[in-house]
Amino acid sequence: MKKIKYISFILLIIYIFLLMPKYCIAIENKSCSIDSNVMNTAISAMKINACAIKSGEDIICTVKDKATAQSVLDAFYYNYAKCKNNEVLLEIKWNEKPEIVNVKEDICNILSKEDAIDMLTSAASDNYTEVAALSIAGETKANKTMAVSYIKYVKEAEAIDYNIITESSNTLYQDQRQIKQKGVQGLKENIYKIEYINDEEQKREFIKSQDLIKPQDEIIIKGTKIRKQPQYILPTSGFVSSIYGERNGEMHLGIDIADSKDTIVYASKDGTVMRAGSYYGYGNCIDIRHNDGSWTRYGHLDKFLVNVGDKVNQGQEIGLMGTTGNSTGYHLHFEIRYGNWPYGRTVDPSYFLDLSKLKY
Ligand SMILES: [Zn+2]
Repeated sequence: MKKIKYISFILLIIYIFLLMPKYCIAIENKSCSIDSNVMNTAISAMKINACAIKSGEDIICTVKDKATAQSVLDAFYYNYAKCKNNEVLLEIKWNEKPEIVNVKEDICNILSKEDAIDMLTSAASDNYTEVAALSIAGETKANKTMAVSYIKYVKEAEAIDYNIITESSNTLYQDQRQIKQKGVQGLKENIYKIEYINDEEQKREFIKSQDLIKPQDEIIIKGTKIRKQPQYILPTSGFVSSIYGERNGEMHLGIDIADSKDTIVYASKDGTVMRAGSYYGYGNCIDIRHNDGSWTRYGHLDKFLVNVGDKVNQGQEIGLMGTTGNSTGYHLHFEIRYGNWPYGRTVDPSYFLDLSKLKY
């Protein structure tokens, strides 16, 4: 039967080609219009019986027969029924089922089963994009064509954070801590019931959750032992350019530490800023009173980083090194005094400072 169809098709083509020149010679002036009539006749004669998959008003693709069309639709449909390891299918149905219709179609336009499945898949995805665009634009949502609705149980893993527990120990200093036990994240799995249309999730319902791995707490030990504060710390960096004591017949009441311009100057001890301003030969000068009856002085500064009345901590930045007042180069003049501010007796700072820490 197929063979007969094929032979008659070949004969038809030969017939058309023999007929065409005759028409052209007979009616010379109207040869073109007759030519196109002949071609149309030929093209319609070349169409063969086939089956189309139709969604709404649109023909999506054409295949050779009904069985192929059905197997294309089945493949498209059951593709959504496939489940990964973490999924279980609960329900599947056509939401908008395409029709299979008989058509006459040019042999060149008849697709293989594989191409037809691809065509359906891409048409379904294009349609979804179009529907989403309409929805964003606030227009009426068009009906989704070739829509397969399905529901799955889906398991999803989720990390569980660990708790941090703090213990204290008097064998460690306050600024020390140790990890007694490292924290480890746990793992749980959540089960959701998810409704889809084609590949798009529509609705998600939480079903239950179960712990797979319990998290392990992190245990941190914090020290409680109080670290004894050194009485005074170095107020800046640099090298000692002049020591405390008699110098050229005069008494040098502090220690000079020289470095470059704007080297940071730190509070040598906790206290209250009593002075932050120009003071005779000291130039820009800071005085800090401490709660043990002593106070410290920082002379020849370039800039102040604190104001009178500020409470400062040991090691806090208070100013920048300069060469203001009676000075011949960038350095800090540093004094330690005992007695009521602004009086009192000076002491040699080298007894209190660790000068070995200076870089020079
Ligand atoms: Zn000095």
